[in-house]
Amino acid sequence: MVVQYKCPSCGADMKFDSTTGKLLCESCGFATNIDTMKQNAEGNTTHTDDYSNDTASSFYESDVNQYVCNNCGAVLITEPDTTATTCSFCGAPVVLADRLSGQSAPYYIIPFKINKSQAQEAFKKWCKNGRLTPKGFMTADRIKSMTGLYVPFWLYDLHSNGEMNAACTRVRTYSEGDYIVTETQHYNVYRSADLNYLKIPVDASEKMNDNLMDKLEPFDYSNLKPFNMPYLAGYIAEKYNYNDKDLFPRVQKRVAQYVDTYLRNSIHGYTTVNVFNRNIHIQPKNAFYALLPVWLVCYDYKDSEHIFAMNGETGKIVGKPPLSKGKIAAWFGGITGISFIIIKIIAMLMGGGLF
Ligand SMILES: [Zn+2]
Ligand SMILES: [Zn+2]
Repeated sequence: MVVQYKCPSCGADMKFDSTTGKLLCESCGFATNIDTMKQNAEGNTTHTDDYSNDTASSFYESDVNQYVCNNCGAVLITEPDTTATTCSFCGAPVVLADRLSGQSAPYYIIPFKINKSQAQEAFKKWCKNGRLTPKGFMTADRIKSMTGLYVPFWLYDLHSNGEMNAACTRVRTYSEGDYIVTETQHYNVYRSADLNYLKIPVDASEKMNDNLMDKLEPFDYSNLKPFNMPYLAGYIAEKYNYNDKDLFPRVQKRVAQYVDTYLRNSIHGYTTVNVFNRNIHIQPKNAFYALLPVWLVCYDYKDSEHIFAMNGETGKIVGKPPLSKGKIAAWFGGITGISFIIIKIIAMLMGGGLF
């Protein structure tokens, strides 16, 4: 089912506006509060008149992966994981509602706080600051391929308990007459701790590089909201490839390190510390499916491709060293849909030598 949000005032397509946090019509300026729409969906009759037929207008899938744009009738070309995109023919923002229901319904979302032009400015500035080295590495032309993507994450609540034993020494050296005395005291140190962790994020998308996504942290959870589809309008969104059980080993390993560090840091004041036993258990309490905002830029420079990602909430930027070109072309093509791939092929025909 394709959902498009039509302006009740002029009929144009509405998009989520990261500046106001509302659904905005760029044609006439009409804006709607998304929280009110949520109430609407839950049965509250507020704003029913605003969103009578157009908002609810929908077309069902005629084929497993086929959706049709309500505006122009074009078939939307999507990957099986896509949950929101734009029509490659008319540019209308579309949300694929049936891919966001049931097991695939996100629980939380952090809406974009940083808009596209802010993201572009930040990238340019970052490049000028020299962290991206060579001159001409980034030009305005290249940044145009910037994509606002809601990345699927699991947010884990965990309980941990850990124990640590260490053999420690305190060494004291002093003079006694003609002698220098070294006195070593031995301690058997034991530490234990029960620690709770809330909403540790782990990205659940196969396409996203795990390290890159980890580096985008922290996210500010004061902006974490109950999921609502209009937040996706105008952005690309994907659904998870891995469920919370698949990814538990990853979060378990990560939190075990936190517990280990916590216990280790609690042992201080000794000359030497030799940890000889550690026992750490991590139990899952909750896992919430959430969509978190990321700006992505991918472009060529001197025959290699580079990826940069920006936290769409906080503006934190992380970079990735050049990777294999074929891999990135496939990866990025998968996100932005077929139009990007076509551009890539044209670039190749023109002698870009992408692969
Ligand atoms: Zn309008
Ligand atoms: Zn269209």
